[in-house]
Amino acid sequence: MLKRLVNECRFTLTITTQGPFIIREGRLKKPETQEEKEKKVKGDPDSIPIRRVWYDDRRDFQRDQPYYLPGTSLRGVMRSHLERIVRSAVPDRLLCCDPLQQKAAPDQGCSSWLDNHKGQGTGYAYKHSCVVCRLFGSTAQASRIRIADSPTVTVPAEKMSYRDHIGIDRFTGGVCSGANFRDLVIEAGVSFQNEIMIRNFELWQLGLLAYVIRDLYCWEDGRIRMGYGKSKGYGQVQGEVGEVSISYYGPSVSGGSMRLKDLGDVLSADEQALYDLKPGGSPATDLLVDPNPELYRTTWKVWDNQAFWGAAAQAWNDHRSGFNSLDELRDNRAVDSPPEKARANGEKQP
Ligand SMILES: [Zn+2]
Repeated sequence: MLKRLVNECRFTLTITTQGPFIIREGRLKKPETQEEKEKKVKGDPDSIPIRRVWYDDRRDFQRDQPYYLPGTSLRGVMRSHLERIVRSAVPDRLLCCDPLQQKAAPDQGCSSWLDNHKGQGTGYAYKHSCVVCRLFGSTAQASRIRIADSPTVTVPAEKMSYRDHIGIDRFTGGVCSGANFRDLVIEAGVSFQNEIMIRNFELWQLGLLAYVIRDLYCWEDGRIRMGYGKSKGYGQVQGEVGEVSISYYGPSVSGGSMRLKDLGDVLSADEQALYDLKPGGSPATDLLVDPNPELYRTTWKVWDNQAFWGAAAQAWNDHRSGFNSLDELRDNRAVDSPPEKARANGEKQP
């Protein structure tokens, strides 16, 4: 994608636990060697929330503990929910891939498909990516969105608890001996703050995020759960966005206008076609306030979050019928036919 910076959107997403919550610490392994088995005594947890610094002492959980929310966990949840939204919003056309689908299926992952269509020049990967990969990236192109790890939060001991589970014998339906396990969970009322940044955004992309943010905020609807043990009722969280700022780079876009422009608004018609951009920021002129000019960019504050996300969601609604479906994108004859000149030179058509 573009080597230069055009715009940037930044905000903080605060995730507050509404019930038992655990992003599992992968470094806590099931004891296998004799030494490990002896080390684990009855009552030690089998899973604990993730920490930055790892020390394997399973008997040390009766006091305040420092935990954090990895950006990758939040990213995974946001991406998969966004895929669900796209599939539900436009059920009759395939607008997003299944990133895990390697084979030449209709929803083959963009990474896998683009891997077989390399070296096609500027804009090709973006233009031929599904709407979700245009935001979250794939192995063929960098992600537009970056989600940082939250700073460490010291969770007080009274907000931690053990949850015990028994294994059920699938054959007899009775309790399965030796299958008891214990989770150390973070209880309701603990907040993590993750910084999110989207560079060179198109407004419809922020619009898709607006739907995810809405579903995180209205957590009682139960559309989004996060972390381990969702089937046990874990992972209910509420997400709330703090102050949003929008930056524009370069003199051409840092002028006096307060209209919310997106990438397509700023680039030339040729570039728009090259990347298949959907230009058209919001027509509203009162969303951005308090410009702060710095060296080569100007940063504006969003004064009304609801109006801002509403305008972004509107951009997605306006454009969603204008995207090519995956089969249209990947039909090389239709999308990638060489320009007239090449044809006149006698190049064979596929
Ligand atoms: Zn994709």
